Amino acid sequence: YTKMANSKFEYVKDFETQEKLLPNSWIVVRIDGKGFHKFSTKHNFNKPNDTRALGLMNRAAATVMNEYKDIVLSYGVSDEYSFVLRRQCPLYNRRKDKIMTYLNSLFTSSYVYFWNEYFHDVKLKYPPSFDSRIVLYPTDENLRDYLNWRQADCHINNLYNTTFWSLILKGGLTNCEAEQKLCGTDSAHKNEILFSEFGINYNNELDLFKKGTILLRKNIKHPLHEKSRQVIYPFHEDLIRDTFWDKNTNILPG
Ligand code: ATP
Ligand code: ATP
Ligand code: MG
Ligand code: MG
Ligand code: MG
Ligand code: MG
Repeated sequence: YTKMANSKFEYVKDFETQEKLLPNSWIVVRIDGKGFHKFSTKHNFNKPNDTRALGLMNRAAATVMNEYKDIVLSYGVSDEYSFVLRRQCPLYNRRKDKIMTYLNSLFTSSYVYFWNEYFHDVKLKYPPSFDSRIVLYPTDENLRDYLNWRQADCHINNLYNTTFWSLILKGGLTNCEAEQKLCGTDSAHKNEILFSEFGINYNNELDLFKKGTILLRKNIKHPLHEKSRQVIYPFHEDLIRDTFWDKNTNILPG
């Protein structure tokens, strides 16, 4: 067909819509694994926390941060990752589709690309996928509360899962029995079960599990070279208290 025919068809382009993200607001992209309850079972993840899987998630997220310098902080737990883009970020003219789909697909392809480095002899049985959403936060307080929400969720789920899997793996209960036993229990009660029945002090569990992973950019100086180099570094610490933000004043400027 001819160039003229092509321009005859071109009107369909006008059906496209573009959503532009509100200026001057924090952009959070959160991705989450599709059906990872099943995915983790099929790939024999250690329960409740498979360190290889967390390492792979962190590696995929670091790859995304390396490519997109507007990301100032990322927070990951379980099968999810949140990427925080600086509020003035001009990336793709703040086109929502571009930002969301590029970050998501780079994360997903990196997860598959680096699979063998973390799972060695475990064969990837089918291609995993992740959903994603973008949320805008107008104030620093909103952004901090978003991260607080995710980290509080990490803590609640991890305390539950640690107790649940102790009851099954160490206590010999069935999944159903463990679920019933935990129904209606508060945090103190779960801590008590862990300690009295299994000698586990929840406080001594890994911060990687209790706090999740915060990825930040840090400048490090090589002892032999002049130039400092930027690296993406993982932290497993509380980000709800002010201490974290007092140490990292560059993230929320002003
Ligand atoms: P959806 O598609 O709705 O997100 P999902 O099965 O992925 O469903 P989530 O609420 O996202 O449900 O929970 C993820 C699940 O993946 C966890 O409940 C857990 O079973 C499993 N999982 C994720 N990461 C790990 C890990 N590092 N170690 C062990 N299990 C994990
Ligand atoms: P953008 O990021 O804006 O999409 P782009 O470089 O991907 O930039 P496209 O307009 O999407 O630009 O064009 C894709 C280009 O990829 C083609 O112009 C061609 O150079 C190359 N390409 C894609 N598929 C093939 C293929 N099967 N064989 C050879 N080249 C290909
Ligand atoms: Mg979900
Ligand atoms: Mg999921
Ligand atoms: Mg999840
Ligand atoms: Mg292209």
